[in-house]
Amino acid sequence: MKIAVIGTGYVGLVQSVGLATLGFNVIGIDIDSKKVTKLTQGQSPIYEPGLESLLKKAFKQKRLRFTTNMNEGIKNADVIFIAVGTPSDKDGDVDLSYVRQAAVDIGKALQQAPRNYRVIVNKSTVPIGTGDLVASIVKKHYNGPFDVVSNPEFLREGQAVHDFFHPDRIVIGNRVSKAADILKKLYLKLNAPILVTDVKTAELIKYASNSFLATSISFINQLTWLAEQVGADATKVAEGMKLDKRIGQNAFLSAGPGYGGSCFPKDVAGLIKIAQKNNLSLPLLEAAEAVNRRQHDFIVKKLQNDLKNLKNKTIAVWGLAFKANTDDVRESPSLAVITKLQKLGAKVQAYDPVAESNAAALIPSVQYNSTALGALKNADALLVMTEWPQFRKIKAALIKKQLKNPIVVDARNLLDEKKLTKAGLKYQGVGR
Ligand code: NAD
Repeated sequence: MKIAVIGTGYVGLVQSVGLATLGFNVIGIDIDSKKVTKLTQGQSPIYEPGLESLLKKAFKQKRLRFTTNMNEGIKNADVIFIAVGTPSDKDGDVDLSYVRQAAVDIGKALQQAPRNYRVIVNKSTVPIGTGDLVASIVKKHYNGPFDVVSNPEFLREGQAVHDFFHPDRIVIGNRVSKAADILKKLYLKLNAPILVTDVKTAELIKYASNSFLATSISFINQLTWLAEQVGADATKVAEGMKLDKRIGQNAFLSAGPGYGGSCFPKDVAGLIKIAQKNNLSLPLLEAAEAVNRRQHDFIVKKLQNDLKNLKNKTIAVWGLAFKANTDDVRESPSLAVITKLQKLGAKVQAYDPVAESNAAALIPSVQYNSTALGALKNADALLVMTEWPQFRKIKAALIKKQLKNPIVVDARNLLDEKKLTKAGLKYQGVGR
């Protein structure tokens, strides 16, 4: 089977490399010529552990190519994946312009190379009904046989390669058996449970999953406010909850600075908007959003507890990525908190092992440092915003030595409180 993947971002690139590794012939198509040039040289434009070595291997085996040319990319493809971005617009609505454009491009390219049946697969996270929209746009330009399938992506950045090869489940949205069977064949080697639904249900499963996970995070973060007030430990509360099999060990209950990233915030906002368009409100999700916003202030308040007025104070921030093991800073709680600190007049010195350049493009006014210890120099406090494991290995005595004031706010409950306290640092975690 020959595969085309439109969009070579976090999802499309992993999908391209993954399918090529499974033995298919894949061509990745992107409008971003810089990305395509880099990819053609065997370099991954994103930081994703394990991805670049598989990319190089697939190149050697001549199973993977990249192009900016849609006609060339699509002409021989049996299956065409759409993996373009679906960001929030300024009102929180889902911006479908990239998906629409991809559908137009597919329709026109297919018309140039009419052939037998093709399957167009939507991997992007899209509002319910987008499958029909894509089909109608393609039909305007192409009169050959095709079906549109929804196959939402559930990978986690930072573990995306693992998640491609070991997904918890594969959702195939389209009951036309010919289309569903082709996708089943594609994923045969992955040995994962496959759920076949209608297109709309598959589209909703993706929003439901992300909204549920985001709500879990807001649930525990809301409890951090109460736990601190009454002298309880929210991290132990989560531990106790997870031992209940109905909740489970993998429940998303890590107290922290709030959910972020390119998916949860936009998908919660997107689902609220989708409901509004259907004359419904989703109060639980509105609350999840409100808690998430308040959590940023909750973290800032911790610095104010010790430093009072933040004007002209220097805050060292460890971590810019929205979570560890990625360079993605989209909707990162770290950037949200940094912006708040700057508004309060603080100066920020920051360090992140891989996300610095992405963050600098969004907030150039931070003093970025090439080492974690360097970022601490003469700072009034250390604020840990991303759970990079290497931060735990830094000796408490060295942290103490670099800081001007011995204050640590750990928004991820990452560092060892005992060691820091022993070294003479004043430590605040979240929810305990
Ligand atoms: P991304 O922004 O990293 O990549 C999108 C790519 O599509 C970009 O390289 C862009 O240049 C390209 N593109 C846009 N329009 C194009 C067109 N007409 N033709 C060719 N290329 C085009 O986005 P992403 O993070 O990979 O997300 C893609 C989709 O997958 C989104 O809907 C997202 O919600 C969903 N998703 C993302 C993740 C994640 O962790 N990033 C996980 C699951 C689902």
